[in-house]
Parts: sequence; C-alpha cells; structure tokens
Amino acid sequence: MTEELELYAKENKVPIMQKDGILYLCNYIKEHKLERILEIGSAIGYSAMMMASVSLSIKVTTIEKDINRYEIACNYIKKYHYDKQIEIIYGDASEVDVTGKFDLIFIDAAKGKNTLFFEKFKNNLSDDGVIVTDNLGFHGLVKDEKLIMTKNQRGIVNKIKEYINFLDNNKEFVTEYIEVGDVISISKRGNTYE
Ligand code: SAH
Ligand code: MG
Repeated sequence: MTEELELYAKENKVPIMQKDGILYLCNYIKEHKLERILEIGSAIGYSAMMMASVSLSIKVTTIEKDINRYEIACNYIKKYHYDKQIEIIYGDASEVDVTGKFDLIFIDAAKGKNTLFFEKFKNNLSDDGVIVTDNLGFHGLVKDEKLIMTKNQRGIVNKIKEYINFLDNNKEFVTEYIEVGDVISISKRGNTYE
C-alpha cells in the first residue's frame, strides 16, 4: 500500500505527509489510543490509510474537496480494504458539517484556512482530544525567512505565522510544535502537558 501511494504522490506531485511526519503521528495515535479521527484534506487517502493501519478499532472520517483526488482515494481505500475503517466525504470542509466527537482532528488542507477549520471543528473534539495541524514549516521558510523568494511564498509564510500566533495566544488550547516532516502542531485543551 505505502509504496504504491508514495510513488503515485511523487509522480503526480500530490503533497502527502512526509514519512517521518506520518510515522510520528501514527505512533502518537498508538500511544494515546486515539480511535476516532477526523481528517481535513484526504488527497489520495495516504495519511488516512496510514492512521487506520495503526489499529482495527480506529475509524477515520476524511474530507476532500478535489473530485479527482477524492475518486482516487476511494479506489485506493477499496483496493486495500480500508473501507470499513475510513469514510471519505467529498466536499469543501468549510461547508461540510460532521456529527459526533473525535479524539484527533488532523488539519492538512489549505494553509490559509487552518484557523477557520480549527474554530469550526473544535466543536467535534472530545474533551481530551487533540488537534494536529501539518505544514507549519513550509519547507523551512517560516523559520528562515531569507529563503523566501516569491510574493506567493511570502503570502503563505504570513498565513502560517498568523495561525501560529492564533495558537500561541489561544486561551482554550495549549500547543506544542514538533519538528518532524514539515513541522506539525499538537493542540490540547487546558494548560498542561502530560
Ligand atoms: N492528508 C493527505 C495530504 C493532503 S494534501 C496525506 O498526507 O496523505 C491537502 C488536500 O487538501 C488536497 O488534496 C486539497 O484538495 C485538500 N483541500 C484543500 N482545501 C480543502 C477544503 N477546503 N476542504 C477539503 N479539502 C481541501
Ligand atoms: Mg500536509
């Protein structure tokens, strides 16, 4: 499964999670026994399948707005028999409402919409659940702004910095940043980390 999807992603420039990032996340899911997962941004289903592969008791709901990627994800999910564990929804996550509570909400969609998705879907987070967001590093450009070459990159870095600011000043959630893959954040309700 992994090789085929990684190859497809590489050949078709689909921005799936980097290997160390997804492995870190899978290990986190295993250690904290997270079972109900909501993902924003399925792409071709790679991270959803990786997360589902941690345990048979894991259920993933994942949302994708690109019809082409949605269909490819559906095919892979069926092909590798994850259809009992993964429900994929076609639609724009800013318009899709999900019911129920999740132990993990994984935001991996449009960089400019992280705050919106955080605020919208925190209502679906269980009391001790976590919200993880991918791509807070933007290939090192957030940390080292000298690397920024274009106006477009500057715009994206500014959006990521706004989101980091939002997380850092959040009264309800405490966030830590993990330097794996393209940098992820882990946000939990309350003031302490175990
Ligand atoms: N999580 C995937 C990669 C996701 S790439 C993995 O690691 O395997 C980001 C995806 O988010 C893209 O496929 C893009 O189409 C989707 N996306 C962007 N904005 C979205 C939105 N508003 N609603 C749903 N999906 C969105
Ligand atoms: Mg990502």
